[in-house]
Amino acid sequence: MIRFTLSCDNGHSFESWFKSNDACDGLMAKGLVNCDTCGSTTIRKTLMTPSVATKGHVQTPLEKMRKEVEDNSEYVGNKFAARARQMHEGTIPDKPIYGEANVQEARKLIDDGIPVVPLPFIPTKKTH
Ligand SMILES: [Zn+2]
Repeated sequence: MIRFTLSCDNGHSFESWFKSNDACDGLMAKGLVNCDTCGSTTIRKTLMTPSVATKGHVQTPLEKMRKEVEDNSEYVGNKFAARARQMHEGTIPDKPIYGEANVQEARKLIDDGIPVVPLPFIPTKKTH
C-alpha cells in the first residue's frame, strides 16, 4: 500500500491509500478519485508517503506516543500482568513497562488497584 497526498483543482489536499502507484494513476484517470472537501475529480498527486517509516518521516501523534512509550518503558510481552502485580506488591523494583495483557488480566489488575493504561496501538516487538 502506498499513501499519497493528493490535491484538487480547488487547492484542497487530502490523503488516500492505493494499492500501487499505477493503481492510483488508473483511478485518477478514470475520475474515480475525488476530493474529500469539494468532490472535484481533477486531482493531482503532491507527494507520496511510503508505508514504511523512514528517518525523515513525519510522525503522527500516535507514532510519537508509541516512540515515547517504547523509549522509556521496558517491553515485557505477555508477562505484563505478572510484572505489574510483582511491582505493585514490591517484589520487583518499580519501572515503566508495557506489554500485552488480555481483557481478564487487565480487569483483574484494575480490580486490585493496579493502575494499567491501555495503549492505543500494538506494541512493536523488540528485545532488550
Ligand atoms: Zn477540493
